[in-house]
Amino acid sequence: MNEPSKRMIGLTGGIGTGKTTVSHYLATVCHIKVLDADSYAREAVQKNSPILQNIKERYGTDICLDNGELDRKKLGNIIFNDSEEKEWLESQIHPYVRQRFQEEMEKSQEQIIVLDIPLLFESKLTYLVTEIWVVSCSYEQQLKRIMNRNHLTEKEAIARIKSQLPIEEKVKKADVVIDNSSTLEILYQQIEQQLNNE
Ligand code: ATP
Repeated sequence: MNEPSKRMIGLTGGIGTGKTTVSHYLATVCHIKVLDADSYAREAVQKNSPILQNIKERYGTDICLDNGELDRKKLGNIIFNDSEEKEWLESQIHPYVRQRFQEEMEKSQEQIIVLDIPLLFESKLTYLVTEIWVVSCSYEQQLKRIMNRNHLTEKEAIARIKSQLPIEEKVKKADVVIDNSSTLEILYQQIEQQLNNE
C-alpha cells in the first residue's frame, strides 16, 4: 500500500494577525512538529558565523555589539530605509533558511510538518510546502494587537503593517484561511478542524 503523502503546511499571515499563537497551539497542544523560519534566520547570523562576517565586511565592525553579537536594531535601521541593502541581506540569509528547512524536512518522519514562515510569499518559499494556511484578522485588530504587544504608536504600527504585502493579498493566495477575528477558543477550533481535513 502506498504511504499517505506528507502534509507540509506553510503557516503565514500579516504582522500581529496571530501566527505565533497558532504555531504555539499546534506545537504544544496538537504535538505537531513546527519549524520556525525566524529561528533559522537568527541562527544564520549568530556570533562567528560566515554570514555575520559578511555583514561586518559590508557595514563595519560597529554593526556588532560589544559581546560580538549582531546589533539587530542598527541593522534594522539600515535595511528599513534602503531596499537595495534589504535585498543584499536577504540574499545572504534566505539560502541558509531554505537549506535548514530542507535538512529538517528530510530528517523528519512526521506525517504533518508545519513551516512557520512570516514572509512565506515575500521570500518565495511557497514551493517548499504542500498547503498554505494564512492567519488573518481585521486591519483594526491587527493595529490594536501590535500597538499593545510592541508598545508602538499608531504611526509606527501602520508603518510596519505597510512594509509587508497586504493581508488581503495573502488571503487570496491561501489554501486555508484561519480567521483570528474572534476569541482564542474559536481560533483553536478552526485549527483542529483543518488538521482533521486531510
Ligand atoms: P508577528 O508577525 O508580529 O510575530 P503574529 O502573527 O505571530 O505576529 P501573535 O504574536 O500570535 O501574532 O499575536 C499578536 C498579539 O495578539 C499577541 O499579543 C497575541 O497574544 C494577541 N492575540 C492573538 N490572537 C488573539 C485573539 N484571538 N484575541 C486576542 N488577542 C489575540
